[in-house]
Amino acid sequence: MKPHRLVLLGPPASGKGTQGQLMAEAWHLPITSTGEILRRESTLGTPLGLETDRYTSLGQLVPDEVVIASIADWLDANADAGFILDGTPRTLGQATALDALLEKRGTPLTDAVFLDVPPAVIEDRVRLRLMCARCGRTFRLGWQVREKTAACPQCGGTLERRKDDDPTTLAERMSAYAEKTAPLVQFYDARGLLRRIAADQAVEKVFAQIAAALGRAEAEKEAAPRP
Ligand code: AMP
Repeated sequence: MKPHRLVLLGPPASGKGTQGQLMAEAWHLPITSTGEILRRESTLGTPLGLETDRYTSLGQLVPDEVVIASIADWLDANADAGFILDGTPRTLGQATALDALLEKRGTPLTDAVFLDVPPAVIEDRVRLRLMCARCGRTFRLGWQVREKTAACPQCGGTLERRKDDDPTTLAERMSAYAEKTAPLVQFYDARGLLRRIAADQAVEKVFAQIAAALGRAEAEKEAAPRP
């Protein structure tokens, strides 16, 4: 089977990180998440982290050229083997820049997986979301972990709330999504790349839908269900 070269689209807390990890593990695809890159740079206090903090802390999008520069080298190193981009593109500018970059390399996108979750569900998900400070995985309180003080089921790290998961910043992230990112659904649909997934379901069910949409139904069984 030809390697997938795909982007993951969806509103905040639609499950991009979780599903991206499952796909990467099941199908041995390299994955990168711009949100994770930026959080790491911020924690390390690098120039990129300091520059982008003022956007991320307010729930605003980081400028297109910064985002594209931050993934260009990664794509050069990984795009030939297939890849998953979690959280990029988020604007039409990024989508067209990404297209140009991938065309030039001869590795155009094969799929845009859109995790469709109604806005009403998102607030609830964000309220219950905990992220591991060490491995970056997210878990739902009351489902995958019982208590706020639990250790990360994956690596034993400390679980905490994401700084930008507070209600004010979330509102800003939702409006940035509606204004700048939602139009990408139409953009990729027009190119025949859109795979729309009803993502307001259990993790395993969402993954099964993605696998089927990508013609990988047989690989469902390879992916271990999450704890
Ligand atoms: P995420 O972890 O994907 O929710 O991203 C967290 C934050 O990082 C976002 O709210 C943005 O501030 C920033 N960010 C991540 N990816 C992008 C992107 N492709 N374009 C602009 N900003 C981004």
